Amino acid sequence: MLYQRSSALFDEAYQYIPGGVNSPVRAFKSVGGVPVFMKSAQGAYLTDVDDNQYIDYINSWGPAILGHTHPEVLEALKKQAENGFSFGTPTELETEIAKLIVENVPNIDQIRMVSSGTEACMSAIRLARGFTGRNKFIKFEGCYHGHSDSFLIKAGSGAATFGNPNSPGVTPGTAKDTLTAKYNDIEQVEDLFRLNEGEIAAIIVEPVAGNMGCVLPENNFLQKLRALCDENGALLIFDEVMTGFRLAFGGAQEVYGVKADLVTFGKVIGGGLPVGAFAGRNEIMDHLAPKGAVYQAGTLSGNPLAMRAGLTTLEVIKNDESFYENLNKTTETLDFEIGKILNAKGIEHKINRKGTMMSVFFHTNSVSNFDDAANANHALFNNFFHQLLANGIYLPPSGFETWFISAAIQEKEISKTLEVIQKFEYA
Ligand SMILES: *Cc1c(COP(=O)(O)O)cnc(C)c1O
Repeated sequence: MLYQRSSALFDEAYQYIPGGVNSPVRAFKSVGGVPVFMKSAQGAYLTDVDDNQYIDYINSWGPAILGHTHPEVLEALKKQAENGFSFGTPTELETEIAKLIVENVPNIDQIRMVSSGTEACMSAIRLARGFTGRNKFIKFEGCYHGHSDSFLIKAGSGAATFGNPNSPGVTPGTAKDTLTAKYNDIEQVEDLFRLNEGEIAAIIVEPVAGNMGCVLPENNFLQKLRALCDENGALLIFDEVMTGFRLAFGGAQEVYGVKADLVTFGKVIGGGLPVGAFAGRNEIMDHLAPKGAVYQAGTLSGNPLAMRAGLTTLEVIKNDESFYENLNKTTETLDFEIGKILNAKGIEHKINRKGTMMSVFFHTNSVSNFDDAANANHALFNNFFHQLLANGIYLPPSGFETWFISAAIQEKEISKTLEVIQKFEYA
């Protein structure tokens, strides 16, 4: 494949945009090489500026769960755009999407819209602090909750890829209120509660982690976190920016049967436009401004175009009774068949999967936390990534990321993908 125009565009972008990209993981720094510049996306496919085509396993890092440029979403967006782009006033549409979500996601009464997952998580922590009157919170190594200061304490994903776990610019004052524990290590959480009695406002967790690669909760981890929060008067925040409307319509709360006090959303909820949200029970959400004293606001929050894309995406999912079943089956086939191929080649690996989230780790043992993920053979992943890319398969450009399967990926795309992996050479 030729990447002439991508290369030229990257050189130019590099002059005007820090690192040539507007979000670090896009730069291919982890896997090496020049990032591919895309010009269009349709269904399961991306087309780059050199006219190469790829089967997309990132799907905009999750939002494009229906596949790209879904006709119903496109139509709805066009119609909405004709009525105006942004009003800065309340709209009926905002209540429509809020109602749909509140009625279908367990354990939430109210939802506040924002413009990114980062904003959602940042605001959820502020609300948890305001509600409990406590300052500290617990997060897990390798979980990513956006780039607001208090989360950039040994953050995963982008930061992990850059080997820069504590970002300069985050003050020690901020860092001291963020406690970190290993994912799936309940004893560390118990210790933190013991050592910080009466000071912990919340635990925030990715109920299925997606930002250190896909890592699943083990041994009733989520149930135990729920119990510890109850014992200690802390709130449990599920960061469902990735898992929300992806694992199930009700997200991880539905799949694992564990109740969260606050839930954050992003990605799928915006159908490809910039949206985030956070939600909870009345007794907590009533503390938010303008009703309550915890301040939170946004010029473009609830933007009509974003709400329309999100609402239409959620409706398409809701109207298809076997949506998740079919999507999960596709992912299961991928998992199983890739495993067979790699086994036949004698390549040690571990595939983690939950629903339509999966990662292939080149690791001999199970991957249950960030250290395990970091100990995988990332050089081999990078090689795998580039061989697949050169053959029209677009994986996330880092071994610390999750593959997102869309409904547009069908048998044809699966067989092509497996055919390419069949030719993978361990170099
Ligand atoms: C992507 C992500 C975020 C951040 O969302 P942005 O929209 O990129 O700010 C937060 N939490 C999780 C779990 C995510 O996957």
